[in-house]
Amino acid sequence: MKLILLGAPGAGKGTQAEVICQRLNIPAVSTGNLLREAVKNQTELGKAAQSYMEKGELVPDELVIRMLQARLEEADCAQGFILDGFPRTVPQAEALEQLGIRIDRVIDLEVSDEEITQRMSGRRVCESCGASYHLAFKPTRAAGVCDKCGGKTVLRKDDQPETVQERLRIYHRQTEPLIDYYRKQNKLYTVNGHSDLAVTTARTLEALEAQA
Ligand code: AMP
Repeated sequence: MKLILLGAPGAGKGTQAEVICQRLNIPAVSTGNLLREAVKNQTELGKAAQSYMEKGELVPDELVIRMLQARLEEADCAQGFILDGFPRTVPQAEALEQLGIRIDRVIDLEVSDEEITQRMSGRRVCESCGASYHLAFKPTRAAGVCDKCGGKTVLRKDDQPETVQERLRIYHRQTEPLIDYYRKQNKLYTVNGHSDLAVTTARTLEALEAQA
């Protein structure tokens, strides 16, 4: 199964990706996490991507496409994968096709801008392993400490309120056209992401099991 999770930043893609990943036993590939890792390690890619990310802008297509291609060639992706945060532009979706990657299903997590803005302020991410939490909806067991690795959980630089507004503008302009793109290919399943986590997860799993 090759899946894409679409949705605005903060819609809950990462959280749903984790659930699906366990259910289907395929890896979740988050371009945001891969890029943050590259920035942390100050690789060539990380240095090139850093300023775009801090401003909430998209990293140029060619850099992200090259990075993703390398990741998908790894052995654990052979049976399928879930893409979280990719594609974010129509050229990125076209690049997947040019690489001969046939996507089976696209799940669009629909959440309003107002809700996103509210949610992002409570989002926390582990500095060490990238695991994602939320102060209200998915808290860590001990405050500020990652459940998975014991690392420190922090507010991402690009989750600051002004940056969130810029990311939402970019989402509407550059990423939202993908909804139509995949609808036309009959691959789109829309999930209302406004409810609490358990309900959204149940809806996501339904979308996964629905007959194509
Ligand atoms: P995310 O964790 O998915 O919200 O991504 C965080 C940041 O990484 C974004 O605001 C972009 O700067 C960058 N990024 C992640 N995925 C992509 C992508 N597919 N194309 C361009 N930039 C990306």
